[in-house]
Amino acid sequence: MEIKFADLNLLPEVLRSIQELGFETPTPIQQQAIPLLLEQDIDIVGLAQTGTGKTAAFGLPLLHKVDFSIPTTQAVIICPTRELCLQITRDLENYSKFLKNVNITSVYGGANISTQIRQLRNGSQIIVATPGRLMDLMERGAARLNELQYVVLDEADEMLNMGFQQDIDTILAETPEDKNVWLFSATMPAEVLRISKKYMDNPQSITVGKRNEGASNIEHNYYVVASRDRYLVLKRVLDIYPDIFAITFCRTKQETQDIADLLIKDGYNADALHGDLSQAQRDIVMNRYRNRGVQILVATDVAARGIDVNDITHVIHYNLPDDIENYTHRSGRTARAGKSGISVSIITSKDVGKVRMIERQIQKQFTKKQVPTGAEITEAQITQYLKKVGDSEVNETELLPLMSIVEDTFGYMEKEDIIKKFISFQLNKFIEYYKQHKEIGGQNSEAGSSSNIENEQRFFINIGAMDSLDKGALIKFVCECTGLTGKDIGRIVIKDTYSFFDVNAVNKELVAAGLQGTKYSSRAVRVEAVKQAERDTSSRERRTGGDRGGYNGGGGGGYSGGGNRSGGGGYGGNKREDRGDRGGNYSSNNSGNNRKTENYPRKMLRK
Ligand code: AMP
Repeated sequence: MEIKFADLNLLPEVLRSIQELGFETPTPIQQQAIPLLLEQDIDIVGLAQTGTGKTAAFGLPLLHKVDFSIPTTQAVIICPTRELCLQITRDLENYSKFLKNVNITSVYGGANISTQIRQLRNGSQIIVATPGRLMDLMERGAARLNELQYVVLDEADEMLNMGFQQDIDTILAETPEDKNVWLFSATMPAEVLRISKKYMDNPQSITVGKRNEGASNIEHNYYVVASRDRYLVLKRVLDIYPDIFAITFCRTKQETQDIADLLIKDGYNADALHGDLSQAQRDIVMNRYRNRGVQILVATDVAARGIDVNDITHVIHYNLPDDIENYTHRSGRTARAGKSGISVSIITSKDVGKVRMIERQIQKQFTKKQVPTGAEITEAQITQYLKKVGDSEVNETELLPLMSIVEDTFGYMEKEDIIKKFISFQLNKFIEYYKQHKEIGGQNSEAGSSSNIENEQRFFINIGAMDSLDKGALIKFVCECTGLTGKDIGRIVIKDTYSFFDVNAVNKELVAAGLQGTKYSSRAVRVEAVKQAERDTSSRERRTGGDRGGYNGGGGGGYSGGGNRSGGGGYGGNKREDRGDRGGNYSSNNSGNNRKTENYPRKMLRK
């Protein structure tokens, strides 16, 4: 027999509010936790993902047990992030809106502590807090927990991952011994077990799904691609799902911003969320995303912690997380509240082992997918467009007076031609784009390596064979300075006094910043991004083999290495001012053609 909320002995006021929210059937964790917590005063360990209905699983019994006729703090809910704090508080306020005298306060770091102290003075029966701020408020005497009866630790593994171990220990040690602890965690690392052993009294376990298992309604896919095709593959993944509402995880703040910028530049409705943004900026991004004003959120693991947005269709791992436990957290952002979702990893062949490790951990198989072809994408786009057109309502009355304009414009055309026009108007950009771009991957190549010229950024670098530079040495040098791997570097051309190398445009800033101010064989290194227009000249020049003549990028903006780089710094055109300065930096060490005979150490030196 199916259990309903009405069967659970909840307070009538609480039942009314959740019915208003449209909750009918308790989720599996709610079915297990609610009766247990209502009937007994026990400690529990709940192993459940985010999105499984955890908040109501502990929140509804808490509202039942807390005495709202008195103002003393009887429960604290500790969670990893401000975002989650606010979410839990919002949920509890919704569940308790028909109860009287309820005062729930959220306190978290990064916000004005005096305001929070004032709010706590009004008497909060339930405090929702991040660990660090709660500690602070306890030390200041603002959070008085001597009457505390319940401590809820939500996303315990995340909190410990984030380094809150000591704070949690202190809070648990300094609150009344006879309190109950309700601990929830998506995974069960040793540290969480230690907490449960040390501070909990014979805790009952509730498990939704298996240990460390991801939500069962998530499909896990992966694409194996060359590292420098990552961004192109991301675009194809976004294009093959026209209605995607996604979160894309990157490894670093810089990468997150770069990818978001590129997507925006390429016409996608994307935005970035990472720790370099102010709290106010992050709030704006999150609100826009939650309200679907943004379709693709690009985020770091840390910034995305505690994000609670329903109906995310895809979680995309632009890079797999360093810590594989994070994979579960990331992919749990989709398939919330019983819905299904897709977790897509874009990996290089060297990450296949990591995928196998994640498979073992979450006890799920990943499906290897072929990168969508241009034809498949165009088909998906047209199908979706036609469906939307077909679904749209026609308002006859409003349209009637406008039909004469339509008639004047298209009256002379056949029906079929009009349809073609409308489709072309909508889809030409895809058709054109994919016509011009080579397919990626494909049946025959594990890590297919298309290189589309406009997604590659060519760099000029003022070191070459005369600096004992060869391709291997250049790759090593660039990788050491930028953190890129050899696979990120495309075509390389080594000339006598300078060289060129290609990277994916995504890494442009990384290369420029990483190589800035470095030295190679005691030579001050200069890199310049080669403009698209100049690349043709560079190719021509390569074919004719300019040798010591250097590179003349054409026009004023080019590079003119010339035969005497030691004096001139290797740049020409409108770079003359720079050239003088640069020459001065190193001409005394390296004198022109003689460098060839000198034995330069290969070591890279930072200034
Ligand atoms: P949580 O895991 O608590 O963050 O919940 C995930 C989402 O599921 C939230 O948007 C809840 O409002 C929703 N939810 C929780 N329990 C239920 C339920 N029994 N029926 C329908 N939706 C629910």
